[in-house]
Amino acid sequence: YQIKFPENEPVKGYMPGSPERAALKAELDRQLANPVEVPLIIGGKEIRTANKGKIICPHDHQKILGEYYIAGEKELLMAIEAAEAAKKEWENMPWEHRATIFLKAADLLTGKYRANLAASCMLGQSKNPFQAEIDIICELADFLRFNPYYVQEIYKQQPNNTDGVWNRVEYRPLDGFVAAITPFNFTSIGGNLPTAPAMVGNTVLWKPSSTAVLSNYYFMQILIEAGLPAGVINFVPCKGSDFGKVVVSHPQMAGFHFTGSTGVFNGIWKQVGENISKYVSYPRLVGETGGKDFIFAHESADIEALTCAIVLGAFEYQGQKCSAASRAYIPESLWGKLKGRLTEEISKIKMGDVRDFTNLMNAVIDQKSFNNIKSYLDYARQSADAEIIIGGKCDDSVGYFVEPTVILAKKPTFKTMVEEIFGPVMTIYVYPDDQLDETLKLCDTATVYGLTGAVFAQDRAAIIKIAKALDHAAGNFYINDKPTGAVVGQQPFGGSRASGTNDKAGSAVNLNRWISQRAIKETL
Ligand code: GLU
Repeated sequence: YQIKFPENEPVKGYMPGSPERAALKAELDRQLANPVEVPLIIGGKEIRTANKGKIICPHDHQKILGEYYIAGEKELLMAIEAAEAAKKEWENMPWEHRATIFLKAADLLTGKYRANLAASCMLGQSKNPFQAEIDIICELADFLRFNPYYVQEIYKQQPNNTDGVWNRVEYRPLDGFVAAITPFNFTSIGGNLPTAPAMVGNTVLWKPSSTAVLSNYYFMQILIEAGLPAGVINFVPCKGSDFGKVVVSHPQMAGFHFTGSTGVFNGIWKQVGENISKYVSYPRLVGETGGKDFIFAHESADIEALTCAIVLGAFEYQGQKCSAASRAYIPESLWGKLKGRLTEEISKIKMGDVRDFTNLMNAVIDQKSFNNIKSYLDYARQSADAEIIIGGKCDDSVGYFVEPTVILAKKPTFKTMVEEIFGPVMTIYVYPDDQLDETLKLCDTATVYGLTGAVFAQDRAAIIKIAKALDHAAGNFYINDKPTGAVVGQQPFGGSRASGTNDKAGSAVNLNRWISQRAIKETL
């Protein structure tokens, strides 16, 4: 029995006249007309509490897609009990049987639930069909198919024996439960963070983002339909402070799988530190956090490739990817032409309702995010050190819309050049061609992050030099391509510095973090 290296799930185009387009359109209308109620799922049971939140459609915030129940301390304690109760049986299940459940979930979500999931992600998280397809369909299915392959490769490794001695390693799950906190921006990450530890026999408490509850809940239902036993993954939308108090400081928390902001991850890490002597095992902390991802152009760069990378890298999904390009270093000799091409291409971008498939951009996720992005644009507008050269308008009267915006910074350490904004804002610094070394140093040191970055050059020696100078500035480094859109099994994703622990999503490195080895020496 061997799992072959999987194929990536092919991306569907939703072209006019295609059956997938018709199915998706119908499902969008159906979900808009039928608000849903999302319960907690603890120990396989649906639980409703007195505390509810609304699921809002970001491109039309008066439109309510449904309501979800919010777990409190009592339900979180119930979820811990359920995870502990499910542990032995799940851990003892042969791993191939565990894997089969996740492989079946991948087939369900790429098959009969494709339109259902894509529509929930489009409406709830404001994605166009392509962004939903590469997230909740293709990448999520890829995680579910590649992780069993990597698990198989890990489990194969066994130590040497000597005369009269039989050595072996047992690959066990961690001694306790795993907690997962997931973000709004990728449903694939929402699905991967609880399922990766579960694949190697852990049981999990999953706190989805309050702004991605709908699609995350539909995925949870698919896991159940695929045969996931009760209590293995417990779905508990709740307040971060309650999760921190009850779950993160619990003595049985053995692992923590996180994607979100650097600030929240630092807070969790501190809390773990304060409680360190209470835990049964040192919790494994795995996080993918913020980014301030760069595009660095050399004077030999191809202007068309550079234009395309800036437009798609910075503005697809409204710049709300941890990997989004948000600062660029451009040599003076290219700037005049590049500015013209950017102005031309950005003026063609359409923004609006997710049901109009010609919109490249939709809304940002919520009011808080909208206000935050707007405050950066106001700051730039009032500063003598920068100029908004394209876009800059914000309008939240119907949905949370922010125009694709380009800021020209006169200083390379200008606020929008170094701080993560998480919106459609690109800041450009133009450098003198003869100051390559100094500018590379700036690019490397100006921010605390190290997630993604891209170099644009046709001169091979320049590519080598720049890649070397920016050695730790990006865990995912692109040569002549935008810094977003990593594919499972092709570009393992994750960064270092303040961008995370670099335990690459969808890789053996990540899965190893949820495994506790026992080495056995038996004397014959
Ligand atoms: N993996 C995604 C990409 O390569 C980014 C994930 C994130 O935003 O956390 O674009």
